[in-house]
Amino acid sequence: MPLSGGHAALDFVNTVDSRRGRWGPDLLGSLGDLVVLAERLGLVDPLEGEHLKRVAAADTQDAGIVLLEAVNLREVAYGVFLAEDRGGVALTSQLRVLEQAARKARAREVLKMTPEGLRWKLPLEERRDIVDLFALAVVELLIDASVRRPVRECKGDNCGWLFLDRSKGGRRIWCSEASCGTRERSKRLRSRRNQDQGKSTL
Ligand SMILES: [Zn+2]
Repeated sequence: MPLSGGHAALDFVNTVDSRRGRWGPDLLGSLGDLVVLAERLGLVDPLEGEHLKRVAAADTQDAGIVLLEAVNLREVAYGVFLAEDRGGVALTSQLRVLEQAARKARAREVLKMTPEGLRWKLPLEERRDIVDLFALAVVELLIDASVRRPVRECKGDNCGWLFLDRSKGGRRIWCSEASCGTRERSKRLRSRRNQDQGKSTL
């Protein structure tokens, strides 16, 4: 899948191929898919990626439960970010789910000195669970709402992906000019041609 969300949290919620017109297919077929996404987004280094892939492949029942947890988090996050696009507010129940996921992700962190100053970090010997990485990304994007660009929903047919609108005028409407933008422009052109042909035969 193209990473057109502009933030890991939005690429995570975009793992459903279409949310407008039709729903699906779901691009998260296995926990391994989620690990690959984390790697592509740079949320894990190659070593961590290999470890997470081994965990994902080791116990299929456990992997299935974690995948369900990820999908649940994704759908709640989608609802919250979509509300932002539509000028609404998140439901308290949605925020509680995200809060719980982030609290779990932060539970083992300790304060560590980094080149940027004190930061919450996992101890070196500890590894993050895959869902934790995305829970933190989602909450980070929500917390930064007042200092970042707004989240928008692509209005392309069979799309509905979310993206950070970093355009100059703040009027971007497609997740990608190359895919949804071109497709919609061709559709309008075809419809205009059909209308013109209809007029000429009258
Ligand atoms: Zn789109």
